[in-house]
Parts: sequence; structure tokens; C-alpha cells
Amino acid sequence: MKTSYIFVVQKHAASHLHYDFRLEIDDVLKSWAIPKGPSTDTNIKRLAMETTDHDMSYANFEGIIPEGHYGAGAVIVWDNGVYENNSKEYTMKASYEKGEILVSLFGHKLKGGYALVKTHYSKNSWLFLKLKDGKERENYNITEENPDSVISNKKIEDIGK
Ligand code: MN
Repeated sequence: MKTSYIFVVQKHAASHLHYDFRLEIDDVLKSWAIPKGPSTDTNIKRLAMETTDHDMSYANFEGIIPEGHYGAGAVIVWDNGVYENNSKEYTMKASYEKGEILVSLFGHKLKGGYALVKTHYSKNSWLFLKLKDGKERENYNITEENPDSVISNKKIEDIGK
């Protein structure tokens, strides 16, 4: 039985810069666009808009989505790693369907407990938040302090050059 599952966060310079958070759930990458990016501060809740599922093969994509295509612009792998389901009651699929996902991330940048919680603001809106577990960092801007790719060290500005 497979016991390790991947996550990836792709930094995406589309018409508006955002971070695509993707979790492997039942062989696809469930995906959320986080306009302000992940935070390490437990006081901060970040809006995460659910977007379309992506194939597993997309997890290592860095490059340019060409003009004229949805999401045109540069993409880098801002963080990746494996994760664990922190729910004792629910599978990842059941957690997703319930609208409350609890995971531990083992990334290069993102570490420890995070939650994704569906809101009632609008159909696809969730909140992404860091949970208190000793790995939180308050008053720290992880997207500014660690802006580059974890697989190539490239800056998003250098993609396609
Ligand atoms: Mn995107």
C-alpha cells in the first residue's frame, strides 16, 4: 500500500501572481490558487480558491504557459515534498468532500501542520492556514524570504530567458 503522498506549490506569474497549492489525492493533484501565497504565521488566514485538478505529471512543471492559453505566464516549483493526513477519522478524499483537510507538510519551505477549510463565502473558496505545532513562524514572510524554485533555484523572472 502506498503510504507517501506528494504536495507541490507552484508560483505562477499569470495576469496576477499567485501560488498554486496542489495535494495528491487519489492519483490526481487537487488544486487551490492562493493569491497571497502560504504563510507560516498562525494568525494569518489565506484565501485559497479551488481550481481544476491537475495530472500527477504536472507536479514538476516549470516553464512558460504560452500566450493565448489559460494562465499564460511563468511557473516555478516554489516548494514540494510529501505530506501526511493528520485526520484520524477521515481519508483525504473524505476530508476533501467534507471541506476540512488537515495535513502535515514535509517541504523544503513549508513544514508541519496546515489546514484547508472550505468557506461559505463562495462556491470555490477555502482558507489555508498554519496550525500551531512549534513549526510556525510569526512575523516572517516566507514568500519574500524564499522566492525561488526548490528544484532549479531559478527565479520566476528568469523562466523563459
Ligand atoms: Mn495558477
